[in-house]
Amino acid sequence: MPLLYYWTRENYVRNMDDRDWFHLNQGSPLLREAAEGERLWAFTRNSRGDFVLAAELVITAKGLNSPAWTERYGPFRVWGSMSSSAYFDAERSPSVEALLRALSPKAKAARLGQSFQGHAAVRRLSLDDERLLSAFALDLPLHPVVHPEGRRDVARFLMDEELSVELALPTPQTALPGWMGEAPPPPTLAWGRVYPRDAALPQRLQRLYDGRCQLCGWDPASVYHRQLCEAHHIQWLSRGGWDRLDNLILLCPNHHRAVHSLDATLDFADLTWRFGDRREPIQLNEHLPRAA
Ligand SMILES: [Zn+2]
Ligand SMILES: [Zn+2]
Repeated sequence: MPLLYYWTRENYVRNMDDRDWFHLNQGSPLLREAAEGERLWAFTRNSRGDFVLAAELVITAKGLNSPAWTERYGPFRVWGSMSSSAYFDAERSPSVEALLRALSPKAKAARLGQSFQGHAAVRRLSLDDERLLSAFALDLPLHPVVHPEGRRDVARFLMDEELSVELALPTPQTALPGWMGEAPPPPTLAWGRVYPRDAALPQRLQRLYDGRCQLCGWDPASVYHRQLCEAHHIQWLSRGGWDRLDNLILLCPNHHRAVHSLDATLDFADLTWRFGDRREPIQLNEHLPRAA
């Protein structure tokens, strides 16, 4: 069942500025009813006050948020495919108001936003409604920051950026010994944005799990006498995630790579990772809260 989502301008602007993309949160349980592969159509207002289509998320996963995230953004979350979802250029898009008013059920309020308050911010769409929206979206300009080259799959960049930043930032424990020569140059980033991180948090995780992968239990310390697992931000910093212990998980390099490459999501309902259709429960957990 496709969904229609009203994104208040305030949240839309903040989400776009924070690069908080390819997922949406809400308090409405309707968000759970969309099936993977179905679409969520989000509309908002641009700076002129026009109602415009903001995004077409092709849903790849859905789940419950962590308790802290729930408090702020609501318990339900859907993730959009980074390769096939689209973000439209709200400033250059024509008004979609007449079309939205023609959809069923009809929006009756004089001001469209008023009929989409609270849980009504998410609605079911009929297939006919969706056909109308699809046709309307066909020629819309794409958002220039999310899709810098006008291609929908360019956003895949984000994944590698996040991973390379996480891997490249040195911690005091991994400083190069003198015999390895000069320190390497700082990493160059696809996006000119580095998110501040507390270097103490990964070390706390390493101690908490004796350096083991929380997903498979791999224990490099017993074999190689080294810390080889990596702290991963469950909600990526580049998607607005927090640099806090309850947003971090310790993963072996294989699982870390797999999580990024498949854009896997952690469902806090059962603390299970979703790699597309494949599900892997966390094996070791001392610090992550389940969804209430
Ligand atoms: Zn692992
Ligand atoms: Zn990561």
